[in-house]
Amino acid sequence: RRDDGRQVVSVDPVTQEGWVTSRLDFLVNWARANSMWPMPFGTACCAIEFMATAASKYDLARFGMERLSFSPRQADVLLCAGRVPLKLAPVIRRIYQQMPQPKWVIAMGACASTGGMFDNYAVVQGIDNIIPVDVYVPGCPPRPEALMYGIMMLQKKVMGERLRDEALRHEMIPDPESQLY
Ligand code: SF4
Repeated sequence: RRDDGRQVVSVDPVTQEGWVTSRLDFLVNWARANSMWPMPFGTACCAIEFMATAASKYDLARFGMERLSFSPRQADVLLCAGRVPLKLAPVIRRIYQQMPQPKWVIAMGACASTGGMFDNYAVVQGIDNIIPVDVYVPGCPPRPEALMYGIMMLQKKVMGERLRDEALRHEMIPDPESQLY
């Protein structure tokens, strides 16, 4: 409020939002994007490439992701590496639901993204039939460089999120009763 009694609102020229709101978004997103705790859900050969990515040569620690979580309750990125058999579909969905908000999903490789070469009755034809996916990494298997590119794309996506959108994330969780699997 100025001396003459008029109220001045500072608006970010890009987001058209109040300065405090947009800066808080930036700060929170910056912290989230650079300290993700991935939960590896490795079911096949792609998981080997993920292990290579996490090892010293490629060094996931540069992204703040060196702390792998094997408990969904302490993870914010579900990294599905490999094909998902139909019998595992309820498991991966349960794991996703057990992760706290906010959370993101990377489908690593052709199998996780689309079923890949396993176009048959036993394999889920893309995990986005079960849970929402944020980033798809193509390849069979994707090299560590490709996975790291996917991670950077996820970071970019996180940086563009708004705190007030988090209510929408809850609505994105598929209803187990209405799902195919
Ligand atoms: Fe294996 Fe290729 Fe499927 Fe990855 S995409 S799990 S490397 S068959």
